[in-house]
Amino acid sequence: MTKPALLSTGPMMPLITDQIEAAFEVHWMHKAGDVKAMISEVGPRIEAVCTGSHTGVKTDAALLAKLPRLKIISNFGVGYDTIDVPAAVKQGVIISNTPDVLNEEVADTALGLLLSTVRELSKAETYLRAGRWPVEGDYRLTPASLRDRKVGMMGLGRIGKAITRRLEAFGLPISYYSRSKQAGVSYPHYADLTALARDVDTLIAILPGGPATQNIVNAEVLKALGPRGIFINMARGSIVDEAALIAALKNRTILSAGLDVFQNEPKINPEFLTLDNVTLLPHVGSASIFTRDQMGQLVVDNLILYRDRKPPVTPVPDTPFKGW
Ligand code: NAP
Repeated sequence: MTKPALLSTGPMMPLITDQIEAAFEVHWMHKAGDVKAMISEVGPRIEAVCTGSHTGVKTDAALLAKLPRLKIISNFGVGYDTIDVPAAVKQGVIISNTPDVLNEEVADTALGLLLSTVRELSKAETYLRAGRWPVEGDYRLTPASLRDRKVGMMGLGRIGKAITRRLEAFGLPISYYSRSKQAGVSYPHYADLTALARDVDTLIAILPGGPATQNIVNAEVLKALGPRGIFINMARGSIVDEAALIAALKNRTILSAGLDVFQNEPKINPEFLTLDNVTLLPHVGSASIFTRDQMGQLVVDNLILYRDRKPPVTPVPDTPFKGW
């Protein structure tokens, strides 16, 4: 049996690489000397794409147009904002992602980032490592504490709920912002982000990137969050007007921020590195071997199911499975 042709937009972890190479004729974009020539040669035969935000390649309309036989884009990650969804829908392509298996890991990281930002934990460790403790005395008392805070969740989906389970154990009052109020959820719902920011002092973002949420955290929202305000971004860099955030951190319009995600990752705006009131993580939300292995297996499972003409496990809601 000839293997179907698959295009990978970048390197994949060995767990994925080994299995897709066994099941497909794989064409690697990052190994091609001339990507354009490679796509024009194999594009007409490609039936599956393996991708992820880490590859830095957008599966946009221009690329999709060169893959007329494409049936599935299997995305490593729950967020699939690097894929042109309307173009995929138009072309009848199924997109699959890796939901649920990463909920608890990302929620753990979110709480770690929140605590580190509020109680300045990484700054305190840097102070100790620099030998300042015996010379200058105790690290300062932190201006912020979780004890008197109110949290506003931006997004209350699978990961958002894993975060709020933890926040409840911390005894924190919770409200949330999303497009629709959820039945059976008792937290106050806000359809207006500025109004939520005004009523809380801590915003935690865990919603999708893409055109619908582009720059929703802007100067107005940050002003509403106010001088005690803390902004935690576990979502995507694209949801924040980064120039407005940097200005708000510099001018102390808000107190501080904790960021796991950025525009133009991994080449983040260097101004962030000059600020002492922001905690920075290199997009490590789901980044444990345990969780990444589960995500990787889901990427492979969706591809193999396509090869065997069986329904995918995790098609995204925009492209429900109706047959291959
Ligand atoms: P999910 O279950 O689909 O939940 C998404 C939440 O966001 C829902 O509450 C949804 O409510 C809300 N939402 C969606 N579109 C919105 C919009 N345009 N405006 C306002 N609210 C909106 O997704 P999930 O599995 O929790 O993942 C959420 C996101 O987290 C991913 O898309 C990804 O970007 C990010 N993420 C980051 C990391 C990391 O490493 N930092 C890891 C995993 C995921 P409504 O539909 O009612 O609006």
